Amino acid sequence: MTARKPRALALLEREVVQCRACPRLVAHREAVAKTKRRAYRDEVYWGRPVPGFGDPRARLVILGLAPGAHGANRTGRVFTGDRSGDFLYAALHRAGLASQPTSARRDDGLTLTGVWITLAARCVPPDNRPTPTEVARCGELWLDRELELLRPRVVLALGAIAWSAYLDHAVRTGCQVPRPRPAFAHGATAPLAMRSGPTVLLGSYHVSQQNTQTGRLTAAMFDASLRQAVMLVRADPSSRTGSRRGASSHANSGDHTDSIVRSRR
Ligand code: SF4
Repeated sequence: MTARKPRALALLEREVVQCRACPRLVAHREAVAKTKRRAYRDEVYWGRPVPGFGDPRARLVILGLAPGAHGANRTGRVFTGDRSGDFLYAALHRAGLASQPTSARRDDGLTLTGVWITLAARCVPPDNRPTPTEVARCGELWLDRELELLRPRVVLALGAIAWSAYLDHAVRTGCQVPRPRPAFAHGATAPLAMRSGPTVLLGSYHVSQQNTQTGRLTAAMFDASLRQAVMLVRADPSSRTGSRRGASSHANSGDHTDSIVRSRR
């Protein structure tokens, strides 16, 4: 991998965080940042679009829905500072993909290996529901460019909206998506002939509290989804593999030299 890709992703991030293309979401993200939750009243909220985060060489992308009002919209890092993030990063750490099991702040030292996390809509929406127009706009402006740089082999979509957002991205970038479109389900897979190469879209229930606290999505279920995602990446001939199943001392120390799923480009 050349240094070009991390630089390009960093440049993209600089553009993303200034976006004001969706008036409804701009107003909401800034209102939440101003009113705050009582527990965080002394903090300065991020209150801007939340960029993707992770390993620029990742072949696995996790695609979520949108920032949490008092999580990523507060901290500025995707799935950071709320219960959804607690669930997600603990699972990534168990899978050997995250250097620590928690994600509290942008400067907490967390690193990811072999995985990149991003969102279908980068600004917090009222009631956690971006409109289809907002998702499409965010996809056209940012997701398409981000995925063009990352060229993932496996995309783990958290929920039906993220699943659909990836299929829309596939259509926009010239992929022949089967008709009828592959339906979202937990554990569903859709192989897609993307311009960047064969890519598997994998579905999981979202890691939201509504799912994890009701038992709709358990840690064991999500661990299995991550294992499947990593196996699919390893099955891709263009990916180099290594063994890092489970949390390791390397993961905890942030040493990723033996890490999984690297790009050969
Ligand atoms: S949701 Fe996306 S397109 Fe809309 S304002 Fe936020 S970053 Fe821009």
